[in-house]
Amino acid sequence: MPKMDGEALVKKLPAVRGRLEVHAPLADLTWFRAGGPAEVLFTPLDETDLADFLRATPKDISIYVIGVGSNLLVRDGGVPGVVIRLGRGFSEIKLEPGNRVRVGTAVLDVRVARFAYDNRIDGLTFLRGIPGTIGGALRMNGGAYGGETRDVLVEVRAVDRTGIVHVLSNADMKYSYRHCGAPEDFIFTEALFQGRAGNQPDILAAMDKITDSREATQPIKSRTGGSTFKNPPGNKSWQLIDKAGMRGFAIGPAKVSELHCNFLINEGGATATQIEELGETIRARVLATSGIELDWEIKRIGIPADGQ
Ligand SMILES: Cc1cc2nc3c(=O)[nH]c(=O)nc-3n(C[C@H](O)[C@H](O)[C@H](O)COP(=O)(O)OP(=O)(O)OC[C@H]3O[C@@H](n4cnc5c(N)ncnc54)[C@H](O)[C@@H]3O)c2cc1C
Repeated sequence: MPKMDGEALVKKLPAVRGRLEVHAPLADLTWFRAGGPAEVLFTPLDETDLADFLRATPKDISIYVIGVGSNLLVRDGGVPGVVIRLGRGFSEIKLEPGNRVRVGTAVLDVRVARFAYDNRIDGLTFLRGIPGTIGGALRMNGGAYGGETRDVLVEVRAVDRTGIVHVLSNADMKYSYRHCGAPEDFIFTEALFQGRAGNQPDILAAMDKITDSREATQPIKSRTGGSTFKNPPGNKSWQLIDKAGMRGFAIGPAKVSELHCNFLINEGGATATQIEELGETIRARVLATSGIELDWEIKRIGIPADGQ
């Protein structure tokens, strides 16, 4: 198993214009507030810095990009290799002709929804309901309240593991439900979205409806990773979990939400191991009661506390 030695790793990495941090804690960079550090955390200054870094970094060093960790469980032993988090250099948001919005992938979805509203653009209101970045929405085909990323995406810029910049069309992203078929090593840097002309009272009403509905049905103020499992075809995960009697079930401070039982909650001090064990217990019970195997929607990364 890879041993975490950030000091040794950083010596193998190229000089950058952004920031490299050794053994950087990741828990506070995720919604679950759990898990270990990144062996090295890289915050590139801009797309060129990112591309230069990827080109010059030895290919046996693993790389993983994160957004704001709203769909992420980092295991307690941390993440070997380099974790990349995009910052200010990826936070531009611009209006383009024809009700289009060009946006850096570190921008929060909520901000794009608000920007669209300010510019009388409809069609992007669903982003109001997703608490992640545009990078996360592109990778997860994030969607809510009848809208999905693939419905509004025109094109994406991405940098591959060798530092080459690509422009992908919507079709190139090979989208399906909560899945993107673009190569796993692609780091998205910018997206172009297509909206449609709208009027502000309607857009605002749609966004307010989403806000109210989320507050009533999701534990949005808790330490959670959102929907834990994808909905199996023809079924709702929360219903299967409820039927298996798991609403409110807990392993230590890791608990199945009483409000929405496809959400797991860290009630305070839960380890990533406990959260993952809770998820696996749910999967086993749902399989036993409904014969259906739930598929994790949350991305789990890194190694367990014992390094195995
Ligand atoms: C309270 C709550 C409610 C939620 N409700 C919804 C909902 O209604 N609908 C929904 O779809 N999701 C929902 N989610 C899940 C989550 O917000 C989305 O999946 C979101 O798109 C993740 O974005 P992120 O920036 O947090 O990504 P992260 O969680 O940090 O990462 C998620 C994945 O995206 C990848 N990724 C991130 N940035 C990039 C990039 N620049 N390039 C390439 N890959 C990248 C990561 O590698 C990882 O695989 C909810 C989560 C919470 C906590």
